[in-house]
Amino acid sequence: MNKVTLSAAAFKPHASPATWLGVMGGGQLGRMFAHAAQAMGYKVAVLEPSSDCPAGHAADHLLCASYTDPAALVDLGEQCVAVTTEFENVPAQSLATLAGHSFVAPSADCVSVAQDRLIEKKFFTDCAQKSGVMPAPHHAITCVADIDSIDESFFPGILKTARLGYDGKGQVRVTSRIEAKAAFDNLQGVGCVLEKMLPLAYEISVLAARGADGDAVVYPIAENVHRDGILFTTTVPGPNVTADCAARAQAATLEIIGRLNYVGVLCIEFFVLEDGTLVVNEMAPRPHNSGHYTIDACITSQFAQQVRAMARLPLGDPRQHSPVVMLNILGDLWFAHGSRTAVESAWNQLLALPGANLHLYGKDDPRPGRKMGHVSFVAPTLAQAQASLQAACKLLGLPI
Ligand code: ATP
Ligand code: MG
Repeated sequence: MNKVTLSAAAFKPHASPATWLGVMGGGQLGRMFAHAAQAMGYKVAVLEPSSDCPAGHAADHLLCASYTDPAALVDLGEQCVAVTTEFENVPAQSLATLAGHSFVAPSADCVSVAQDRLIEKKFFTDCAQKSGVMPAPHHAITCVADIDSIDESFFPGILKTARLGYDGKGQVRVTSRIEAKAAFDNLQGVGCVLEKMLPLAYEISVLAARGADGDAVVYPIAENVHRDGILFTTTVPGPNVTADCAARAQAATLEIIGRLNYVGVLCIEFFVLEDGTLVVNEMAPRPHNSGHYTIDACITSQFAQQVRAMARLPLGDPRQHSPVVMLNILGDLWFAHGSRTAVESAWNQLLALPGANLHLYGKDDPRPGRKMGHVSFVAPTLAQAQASLQAACKLLGLPI
């Protein structure tokens, strides 16, 4: 019998399975990334300061060190053929250092744009002519005098720290100049952006992925509902999303991801105003909470897509095969139900609901506002998925 020998060219992918992929950050996004990478045969190394972290429990190797530890960065870079980040506040300089040892996607430059709201908004404004979408009217606030010079039309507004905000943290809603000054003082004078409060009709996000070869794919529009600044549900297809709005948001996302020369998964959040205007809010240089629906409802999940992009494999099909509603499970539930056993016994009933897929992140200490997991309801029709969501909210005591 003839022996078939595979040439080296058969192993085209730069990061062929059985090699290592690295992740900066140990949260649930890194954990779900690890699961996807391992399903494709990769080994996963995580760099994270805390030894007890969701991604660390799933990874093949945990480098327990600070994100700026020079020796740990060299170790990760040398061990892995490609490295990504699951946490957007990883110092961009660390990604630049890693790039001396490994393929890094997204790049330090791309991540640093998303790390600063002012730089990000300037970038969106620069893209606006081609993307067709502008950010919310805003002003940089670096000292109290900046608040004095703002036009009255910016109130009511939202004061947001320029850096390090997430899940509504580092944000204060202000109705007047006086309130804005007090809020700025409370934030201890860190650089901020004051945004005009806009009349939102609904919120959407668009997930896209781009390969090193410039190929890009875009996912269906996700319609998001936030509660207390934290994502509550994502529904796809979004009940309010028109075909025209979807086309504009997807085109803007593809323009922005191309303009950044981005490699990997990127998520862009948009506001749709009452008059139909589309406003770009912010971007996350990584898979996103509002993209968790892709795990159960799309051909290629956002995590599998990240693996493909960073390993320089062909991108996967982003098509959605079923309507879906995703519900975040926050630590608040543990407190509302009084005991761990009471909440955890609800999983039985939750999983009995039609189309339910429960994802828990293996976190031991629930805290209010902490993301502990999510559940997606996948169904033949959106109405059926929404019925399961309603039943779940009733079961978990969440007002819908
Ligand atoms: P995350 O990182 O979790 O997405 P964040 O803390 O970075 O959130 P934003 O996304 O900017 O903050 O804002 C959180 C939510 O606050 C938005 O999803 C929206 O509901 C509301 N919001 C923010 N900016 C405005 C605005 N200019 N007008 C009206 N509502 C706003
Ligand atoms: Mg946001």
